Amino acid sequence: MADSDKTLFQKIADGEIPADLVYQDDRAIAFRDIHPQAPTHVLVVPRQPIPRADAIEPEDEAVIGHLFTVARTVAEAEGLSDYRLVVNNGEGAGQTVFHLHVHLLGGRDFQWPPG
Ligand code: 5GP
Repeated sequence: MADSDKTLFQKIADGEIPADLVYQDDRAIAFRDIHPQAPTHVLVVPRQPIPRADAIEPEDEAVIGHLFTVARTVAEAEGLSDYRLVVNNGEGAGQTVFHLHVHLLGGRDFQWPPG
């Protein structure tokens, strides 16, 4: 893939942009959000560049499920029992990076409904 076509998170996954990685394997990476919204704020990202939740195809189900087990692994490593997992789909929902990611937020209390 040409470098200019890569998303920010693809460049992080490829090691071209530094990030505070907390987990990585052949299918996913997890790194701390640059603007944390909670004491723990980690982004769990598939290496495969799925742009957004509504672009997930049936053949992606295994990797999407993997994101949740990675989130659990990271949450346990962070000592979290209660935490929030968030996926923003589209600009109106707050998505700014169009490479699918799960936000793992923890270490404080949360309100419902979210803003
Ligand atoms: P979204 O708004 O798309 O759901 O989430 C994108 C997240 O990426 C935001 O929480 C934002 O703070 C984070 N982010 C944006 N640029 C960078 C970066 O260069 N490095 C890291 N670690 N996080 C970033």
